[in-house]
Amino acid sequence: MSLFENTLKQINRAASLMNLDPNVKTLMENPQRIVEVNIPVKMDSGSLKIFKGFRVQHSNYAGPYKGGIRYHQDVDMGEVTALSAWMSIKCSVVGIPLGGGKGGIIVNPKELSLGELERLTRGYVRAIEPVIGPDKDVPAPDVNTTPQIMDWFADEYCKLVGKDAKGVVTGKTLEHGGSKGRNIATAQGGVYVLDEVAKEKGFNPADTKVIIQGFGNVGGVMAQLLAKKGYQIVGASDSQGGLIFENGVDPDKLLGCKAEKTTVVNCDIDFGGKRVSNEELLETECDILILAALENQINEGNASNVKAKIVFELANGPTTPEADEILAKRGVMVIPDILANSGGVTVSWFEMLQNADNNYLTEEEALAKLLPIMVDGWKAVKANADKYGCTLREAAYVTALTRIEEKIKEKGIL
Ligand code: NAD
Repeated sequence: MSLFENTLKQINRAASLMNLDPNVKTLMENPQRIVEVNIPVKMDSGSLKIFKGFRVQHSNYAGPYKGGIRYHQDVDMGEVTALSAWMSIKCSVVGIPLGGGKGGIIVNPKELSLGELERLTRGYVRAIEPVIGPDKDVPAPDVNTTPQIMDWFADEYCKLVGKDAKGVVTGKTLEHGGSKGRNIATAQGGVYVLDEVAKEKGFNPADTKVIIQGFGNVGGVMAQLLAKKGYQIVGASDSQGGLIFENGVDPDKLLGCKAEKTTVVNCDIDFGGKRVSNEELLETECDILILAALENQINEGNASNVKAKIVFELANGPTTPEADEILAKRGVMVIPDILANSGGVTVSWFEMLQNADNNYLTEEEALAKLLPIMVDGWKAVKANADKYGCTLREAAYVTALTRIEEKIKEKGIL
């Protein structure tokens, strides 16, 4: 099943729970605009190579399209479409005035030189320039895209339109108009939600064992923030495999080692970690399993073997709808991506506002402004879960679709 079919299933479930206007459902099932581009890039060898890129603008009923750009060899239109729909839903779960979009380029950026990567990024901007803009569609980083790439993006766009329009993209470096706090916002937003879950469930961080799948930007920071709160980090993985630490590990040290030795797997001897496969890591005993890698990690094949009490989704789409059903039946609480990782897009929205009025927040201010948005998002989702007697994911969809329906009707579209 394609990732977008998963999204449609999730929308359908919520729609039938809440009696969503069928016309609103139809609008949500059909992205407003799909753009596919061929990007010519002069390679260092002198040859010309064409890369395929996408931008899917799912909906702008609540505000400009918003969503990251993924550079990955396996990215395809279906994946980007699903991710764009999740952005529409995600922004509305936390009630920020943005719609949903997503972009991608089929490329393994690790195979490109820095110069090739810059030319590819600038070429992508030239190709999609007619459909983006600070009030129209605002991309951001995603898997394998960095603040440096966002700086090139903004620079190329400003040159094309002949004015300062750096708010066309978020996730830029601080020197080029980025927001303080953006680098940790996704994980920090997750921590704010987890704090609410901890209150609800009454668990104590010091007695809580956490495993992190995907020790990258988001997963690494999440581990650091949780360790500061006293949680025990007992497992971590990246694309090369995982390590289990019976007595916990200091994530600052593990991140330092990973930076030096390229993968956490090579840090086994340094911290007494036991090597496990990515599959084994997901099935290891723990209290909270944090998914911070890619899609479809918990699926029909392994959901019955997950031993965590809580699955916390920082990645987008890491649990399939079939796995959701299995986990719900087994009483495993799933904190859904569209709520759990929405801190990133929320601080991206702060970046758009800061670029527009040239007035910048401190990191403390940005993270303080994020807190009530995440807590209100959690409360709205929890209230709908109680009202409809459904899972938190279904409740998050209900929350978002209720808000999107209002916007569509306010605008007189239906
Ligand atoms: P990243 O590339 O920095 O990190 C991803 C990590 O996952 C890497 O360490 C990679 O090695 C690892 N990984 C890949 N395949 C794996 C596998 N099979 N098993 C274990 N680990 C694996 O990317 P990121 O920015 O941290 O994003 C991670 C996820 O979070 C993505 O799904 C992304 O869409 C989502 N997300 C990111 C942000 C953000 O602010 N960066 C915001 C919202 C959602």
